[in-house]
Amino acid sequence: MNKALVFSIEEFSTFDGPGIRTTVFLKGCPLRCEWCHNPEGQTLDNEIVKAQSGCVFCGCCIQAGLAASGKEKLTKESITVCPNRLLRFAAKEYTAEELVQKLSKNFRILNAGGGGVTFSGGEPLSSGAFLLEILPLLKGKTNRALQTSGYCEPKLFEQVLSETDYVLYDLKLMEPEAHIRYTGVSNEKILHNFRTLVKSKKPFVVRTPLIPGVTDTPKNLGAIAAFLKEQGVGAIDLLPYNKMAGGKYASIGREFQPSFDESIPSQPRRELFEELGIRVNIL
Ligand code: SF4
Ligand code: SF4
Repeated sequence: MNKALVFSIEEFSTFDGPGIRTTVFLKGCPLRCEWCHNPEGQTLDNEIVKAQSGCVFCGCCIQAGLAASGKEKLTKESITVCPNRLLRFAAKEYTAEELVQKLSKNFRILNAGGGGVTFSGGEPLSSGAFLLEILPLLKGKTNRALQTSGYCEPKLFEQVLSETDYVLYDLKLMEPEAHIRYTGVSNEKILHNFRTLVKSKKPFVVRTPLIPGVTDTPKNLGAIAAFLKEQGVGAIDLLPYNKMAGGKYASIGREFQPSFDESIPSQPRRELFEELGIRVNIL
């Protein structure tokens, strides 16, 4: 039986697919996008998250961690000693059956408006075996969507796609070197899997995060527009840069250090798509 680490479940979301949805955020992602606003979703470790206000700097948490591990770090023992209850594990572990049971209480409301459940992350395909277990359990009960970077082995993508009703697919950077530089991985599998998605005739939406000077350049958006045109795709969602992106890093003891200039407003450059007949939706 497969288990997955779920770091958030958001109910009544209207941005993660058709209708009203419950979005399940699974931990683990092979990418390291510079602009990631869910850093607690990147690793498959269940790290400890610290609330950003209320700390009285008593040091009890580090002392408990030191006693338990011999190192100055937060451990599970740290959680219970914090007088202000500021520490928690980033995620909770679920089996597929446990998660279906939890999600099912809202199916009637979600289904009434054509909504359903969206698996997001992190990169949900990092939990491929879990998805292959839970998606069939949800079949016929509610609409099943996948929000993905598209980065995984092609065989896994095909298997998960066959059990998915709707896909939200990110295209970030078309130039291979730039993709590696800003996300840590090549876009070869991503583009391959995207072609598979188009051929599958499953309903999907393409989404591009607009990162100032990185993904929102005329060169990159023009290349995405040309690729979509070549693939016969007629629409794209553009996501303006969220200046709160770095907000969660401190809570897991990391620093947000983007190499791009956050103060420059991101540019949708919608004309690059529209002149090729591609409809633009700016979220
Ligand atoms: S135990 Fe709680 S209040 Fe004390 S230093 Fe740690 S996080 Fe802050
Ligand atoms: S793919 Fe998403 S979750 Fe993974 S690093 Fe990039 S932004 Fe973060």
